[in-house]
Amino acid sequence: MSIYIDPEVAASLRGYEVPERLGFGTAMAPIMFRAVYQDGCWSQGELIPYAPLSIDPAAKVLHYAQSCFEGMKAYRTQAGGIALFRPEKNAERMAFSAKRLCMPPVPESLFLDAVRTVASYCANLVPGNSGESLYLRPFLIGTQADLTVSASSSYEFYVIASPSEAYHSGSMRLWVEREDARAAVGGTGDAKVGGNYAASLLSVGRLKERGYDQSLWLNPSDRNSVDELSGMNFFAVIEGTLHTPALTGSILEGITRYSLLELAESLGYQVVEESIPVDRLLSQIASGSCTEAFACGTAAIISPISVIGDAEHCYELQQAPGPVAEALRQALLDIQEGRAEDRFGWMQAVEPASF
Ligand SMILES: *Cc1c(COP(=O)(O)O)cnc(C)c1O
Repeated sequence: MSIYIDPEVAASLRGYEVPERLGFGTAMAPIMFRAVYQDGCWSQGELIPYAPLSIDPAAKVLHYAQSCFEGMKAYRTQAGGIALFRPEKNAERMAFSAKRLCMPPVPESLFLDAVRTVASYCANLVPGNSGESLYLRPFLIGTQADLTVSASSSYEFYVIASPSEAYHSGSMRLWVEREDARAAVGGTGDAKVGGNYAASLLSVGRLKERGYDQSLWLNPSDRNSVDELSGMNFFAVIEGTLHTPALTGSILEGITRYSLLELAESLGYQVVEESIPVDRLLSQIASGSCTEAFACGTAAIISPISVIGDAEHCYELQQAPGPVAEALRQALLDIQEGRAEDRFGWMQAVEPASF
């Protein structure tokens, strides 16, 4: 199905100036994609000027949180082109998240057309310094206006875009969260839904007062093994081997996570995916057998962890960033930005639109 291009789109793009200081996810591209689901069918997708949504105050999303999203990037490659990183994985994950919240999955072809069209019309807005990108945010919301607790009968799917700087979190100080949980057993921890983030904010607010940056969430069933951060997956290098928690049902399966696992193996690292009891991890940091730890996700790719704090003790990692984190970050970015051969077939070129 072809996408309707609103005649105002060209003028919106021509009149737009990319701000000098980009930040991450704060400058919004002047256009967006929309498709509507009603009576069991998806409408034709439309590319329209960026504007506030008009939504009924009784819309289910506002009360019962029928909302899921994705985060992905369009990169400027060394050759000057534009490319997306594994967009079909985002399509697949968004379908999974939608089903978990009883929402109709956005068909893969509609999802891919949407992100490709936005990236293609925004080609001139994709910044070109290494680490910069056009961050794409697809999201799906339930819009039926009625306060009964049931799945919405109508939905809207949008893609907005943000020309963004490299996401520099610097090295992070984590706090082991032993009270709250971001996800429940059998809950929505493995789906990319806004509610998981809302559940994480209080913990992060509390630890910021103590001088930490992010919560390290434990598995909600054993309250002992490491799950992940609020929006990034967790890795540690223990005696030279790369460890990450096996998926438990409460961990969001990051596309960066499994891309790094594949990449690390191809670079000759030993990779282990199994449960990481937090007390063992902390003693391995104290003894020096755990030499580095880092978090990964689309925004920052890899963020080194300098400290993990717990109750009275604060465990310092020897190196942040360490050599493994640096090697993996560079290898992944080299593929994404077209400096290295795309030997896994991860990148999809996008032709800039003419308008
Ligand atoms: C999005 C997200 C990640 C990282 O996923 P990527 O696909 O690598 O960006 C990790 N954890 C949570 C909770 C997330 O929402």
